[in-house]
Amino acid sequence: MRLSRFYLPLLKETPADAQIASHRLMLRAGMIRQEGAGIYAWLPLGFRVLKKIEQIVREEQNRAGAVEMLMPTIQQADLWRESGRYDAYGKEMLRIADRGARDMLFGPTNEEMITEIFRAGVRSYKDLPKLLYHIQWKFRDEIRPRFGVMRGREFLMKDTYSFDIDEEAARRSYNKMFVAYLRTFARMGLKSIPMRAETGPIGGDLSHEFIVLAETGESEVFCDRRLIDMPVPDAGVDFDGNLQPIVDRFTAYYAATDEMCDKTAFKKSVADKDRITARGIEVGHIFFFGAKYSRPMNAVVAGPEGKDIHVQMGSYGVGVSRLAGALIEAFHDDDGCKWPVPVAPFHVGLVNLKVGDDAADGACAKLYADLAGAGVEVLYDDTAARPGEKFARMDLIGLPFQLIVGPRGLENGVVELKIRADGSRKELPLEAAATAVQGDVESALMIV
Ligand code: ATP
Ligand code: MG
Repeated sequence: MRLSRFYLPLLKETPADAQIASHRLMLRAGMIRQEGAGIYAWLPLGFRVLKKIEQIVREEQNRAGAVEMLMPTIQQADLWRESGRYDAYGKEMLRIADRGARDMLFGPTNEEMITEIFRAGVRSYKDLPKLLYHIQWKFRDEIRPRFGVMRGREFLMKDTYSFDIDEEAARRSYNKMFVAYLRTFARMGLKSIPMRAETGPIGGDLSHEFIVLAETGESEVFCDRRLIDMPVPDAGVDFDGNLQPIVDRFTAYYAATDEMCDKTAFKKSVADKDRITARGIEVGHIFFFGAKYSRPMNAVVAGPEGKDIHVQMGSYGVGVSRLAGALIEAFHDDDGCKWPVPVAPFHVGLVNLKVGDDAADGACAKLYADLAGAGVEVLYDDTAARPGEKFARMDLIGLPFQLIVGPRGLENGVVELKIRADGSRKELPLEAAATAVQGDVESALMIV
């Protein structure tokens, strides 16, 4: 992509009402634009990040055996009256009426709808388990939308729903999502920690929030330091095998959100040196709730003895749009974003220091063609801006690799490669540059 054709409206001033780094940087780097309280347009640069995040989430859901579909954003109130949640949900639900004065709503979540879809199509326990998901916009009329896309009113969520014959089987579905989530966030470069979370009236231990530690996080969390660098299962993990030992390993150490934390138990079970009290961002939540919806909505399957059984369900959410913010909180400096390669809007920023100079233009055209031909995503700064402005812009938008091409270097047959993550620089022979950068990109994208 040529920058001259792209749409990258950068802000010079730091927006005054943006309190945290990710919100500031997303606005400054032209990733999003606010269109209303908690409602954002995803501009081309931000949209590319959102799509990368979404795709990683999708690949790991598919790997775990979940099946993708798409449910609508607008739902009928009657469906929610069946579960009793239409009145219970309160003001967070955006209620709408259609031209026939029928009560509708913009879905804040999809338990009711998926239960309705399930009950229409599944008859026998032999068809279980089922794991269905979609990636769709939600609307919740949050009291305090803030921190940009971190707590929006309209936001993109991946929500999976599991259907099983009994609690033991439901735990297997739960474990699949537990492991899928560990992998999903790790592939983005994030260290997520599963923490015990509220289960509501049904109790049990099958509710975890996946938290990324960050000073600006909204949740207060209490955990054991040893969880932070726990190695995550690799892509070869057998999702049809027994995942319980993996889940046990991650739940062996203390980790709980504020609502679930028993401070005395925390002190008692974790040594001083390992005790972390911190703040974190909830990027995912997995939750088993049994027959909470299947009972009132009568979602049953014929069991082995022919008797109808209410299916046991769970739901599993990932904050896809929130992750864009969470990633910046984890990866930035004073100059801008520092995208990990798998979620970067482009892999390489190609900087032509002297547009109009034959040597520089020629070298850039060749690098651009070679890299693009090898599947590397390049944003080519072919604008007439001064070098200082180009450097600042590249640092702000935070592409992982910057290839800097100028007449002076070219006289010696070299271009410069800057790695945004650590600021390191090295010279590369022009002839070898595309292959070298391609190799760096490919190794960073390798799925482990
Ligand atoms: P929170 O406690 O942050 O309000 P929640 O418990 O309401 O979250 P869930 O209903 O479990 O969230 O939704 C699944 C995921 O969707 C959350 O883990 C979070 O990452 C994301 N999410 C929830 N609310 C928002 C929001 N207002 N803006 C952006 N992402 C959100
Ligand atoms: Mg909420």
